[in-house]
Amino acid sequence: MGLFNKFDGNSPEFVALCERWDGYLKKLDDRYNEVLAQVDAPMQGMIDGLQYDNIVVHNVLMGLENQTVTELSEKVDQGWTKMEAEMEKLGAPWEIISSQRNKGEQFKNKIADSFSDYHVNTYTRAANKILENVQKHIDENKLHRCTQCAGELPIKTYSFMAVNLKCESCGSVNTYQPDDRIRALEYYVINQLAEANAKELKKQARYDKNAGKEYYKAYYGYLMENVPDKKEFYERQMNERIKWLDTNPFAGDYFR
Ligand SMILES: [Zn+2]
Repeated sequence: MGLFNKFDGNSPEFVALCERWDGYLKKLDDRYNEVLAQVDAPMQGMIDGLQYDNIVVHNVLMGLENQTVTELSEKVDQGWTKMEAEMEKLGAPWEIISSQRNKGEQFKNKIADSFSDYHVNTYTRAANKILENVQKHIDENKLHRCTQCAGELPIKTYSFMAVNLKCESCGSVNTYQPDDRIRALEYYVINQLAEANAKELKKQARYDKNAGKEYYKAYYGYLMENVPDKKEFYERQMNERIKWLDTNPFAGDYFR
């Protein structure tokens, strides 16, 4: 582009180029929706068949994220490299090229946000199914009895940690191990619901450190409330994370 040739943003070549770019992004958007629509019924079937863990859902979600967010974002970058070269050939100025590039960046953010919602919602559905299964098999009236004298031990149904308890009647020490299904609740139900509870704050945390702190407070607050046996443990973790956000200038990247 010479000094005396002015760039014309309305030239048929440039208009056609922008339309090609829009069309390309539209096709990637369609592809994103198509992949998720295809997986809708199989995912529901998988959730209906869950027992006490969500490992199979976790694996499918990893594959889906790769197929959507990762691959489509790479396609945006590949497509943009070609577009940018053609726009430069037409002599488009920096700010015009930059606004076209933004369309691609916005699309990448949009699918990342959308998949993050899908991820949390799917885990929540799985969590509710697992919770239903556990509740069906836990006898709330079951008593824990001393192995020596059969005296009643003061253990709550939803206890999450192994404990040593001294029997009040005979003084012998009993070790209580939580039922595997109760343990499963912590990892596959309460964790997921805590994440769902805090998901909007997690999104804001990408741009705002204080939202990151609020996210940790909401997430760990939910855990502390629902796993009271481990309140101190979670409180310590929460404080460590918040301190890490405070002292690490790049901590916000963790949420991106
Ligand atoms: Zn006893």
